[in-house]
Amino acid sequence: MDTTAEQLSAQVEQAQHAFEAARASLPAEREAWLVAIADRLESSSEELVPLAAAETHLGDPRLRGELLRTAFQLRLLGAEIRAGEPLDVTIDHTDPNWGMGPRPDIRRVNEPLGVVAVFGASNFPFAFSVIGGDSASALAAGCSVVHKVHSGHEQLAKRTADVVVEALRSAGAPGGIFSLVTGEESGTMLVDHPLVQAVAFTGSTRGGRALFDRAAARPHPIPFYGELGSTNPVFVTRLAWERRRDNILREFVGSVAMGIGQFCTKPGFIVVPKSQRKEMDQVLQDAASLMPRSEMLTPQLRRSYGDSLVELRDRPDVEVITGEGGGNEPRMTLLRTSAETICRSPEILEHEMFGPASVLVEYSDDSELARVANLLDGQLTTTIQGEVGEDVDDLRRVLSSKSGRVLWNGWPTGVSVTYAQQHGGPYPATTASGTTSVGTSAIRRFMRPVSYQGFPDGQLPEVLRDENPWMVERRIDGKRSAGRGT
Ligand code: NAP
Repeated sequence: MDTTAEQLSAQVEQAQHAFEAARASLPAEREAWLVAIADRLESSSEELVPLAAAETHLGDPRLRGELLRTAFQLRLLGAEIRAGEPLDVTIDHTDPNWGMGPRPDIRRVNEPLGVVAVFGASNFPFAFSVIGGDSASALAAGCSVVHKVHSGHEQLAKRTADVVVEALRSAGAPGGIFSLVTGEESGTMLVDHPLVQAVAFTGSTRGGRALFDRAAARPHPIPFYGELGSTNPVFVTRLAWERRRDNILREFVGSVAMGIGQFCTKPGFIVVPKSQRKEMDQVLQDAASLMPRSEMLTPQLRRSYGDSLVELRDRPDVEVITGEGGGNEPRMTLLRTSAETICRSPEILEHEMFGPASVLVEYSDDSELARVANLLDGQLTTTIQGEVGEDVDDLRRVLSSKSGRVLWNGWPTGVSVTYAQQHGGPYPATTASGTTSVGTSAIRRFMRPVSYQGFPDGQLPEVLRDENPWMVERRIDGKRSAGRGT
């Protein structure tokens, strides 16, 4: 049964109380909460993975790997908040000789926002859902979380939430710091709720944009971190094509096939030199025929995938290399068009087919690579397949202006959780291009900087005091210091 308006309000109020109680916690305590969740997730895998498999049709090995990734992410974000990097503690002592005139004592720290609403995606039921990157980074920041369940995996979401709540309780976190609501309407009520201070969303551009507009239309608008869709084009130089064509094509097919094409980082386009088609098509057809087939995540996604595929396939300037269209367990479909067509109809580049399909774009003249790149809208990723020593500076510069992550001789489907990871990009890839939803920097989205000016040391928040009782990394008078007092 869907969460009612009264239930939702009570949960958000409890989340607010929990947030206030958690403000007194030390970073090391918050780390312990995240570690407790990671431990319980892993020890519950025999129950959670089969539930996920039944609801999403994603295979057992993939789901086990995803659960491990989710636990790793919780531990990494926990360690990061204990080290204090996301707090960005910056201390400027009084300086009578400061260049623009005497400087007062100013100390800045990032503080948690409050209650965060988290919407998960259907295609990563662990890593981008109930206790995925958004919830983990909000909890690490010191916020409380109300999660809106994805209708594609409701049973799994409820059981995962039980595991999370029990882990938090046993680790001593305040009650209500994490809870979940169900039903589409509860999603809009959450975005509207005056106590909610930020929204994290992973999902479709359409849904994300509707909720983003709603967050902006509140009497007090709030940050909306929407990670939306992307077509992740790959650009192959002529030299790379001459030296590695068949390998590139096989690896490309493997990347398109991951998760039955239901990855926000799936390469939706590969831009290649125009060449002998017969051999090339044979390599693609052989590789595609070996790829596993399975049911898609939800009947709704299957329908919208089928519709978007047919829309592109039926254009007169697009031809089919292999594939049959949609269906219950769709076979891979590869389409072909030309760079010339893209220059005439650049909207094709934004055509996301969320399933096992992709498009080869052939160029005749090398200058068309940068021309096509210049036509791109915001992307999560772009990729260059090239050779060492080639001059790709212009292309790389265009791609970095269009996407959050530029890859060299790799494939965009893997998104590692690291310190330097950037999973974001200009709109429509995301609604907040200055942030990432994967990696340790994701924590900062749920914090707000506050400066304290002129306070006596003993009356400052502990983290800003001279003796550095939290032992966190700080920047003092312009210089970095590693976890020491001043
Ligand atoms: P979705 O249909 O947008 O759903 C995401 C969540 O938002 C669900 O909980 C859904 O509720 C809710 N929602 C969507 N529109 C809403 C509205 N107007 N009002 C209230 N709630 C709303 O997305 P999806 O089907 O899970 O995922 C497919 C898309 O996500 C693809 O386009 C893919 O590229 C993108 N994606 C992006 C990333 C990324 O990191 N950028 C990662 C994974 C997927 P219900 O479940 O109740 O409908």
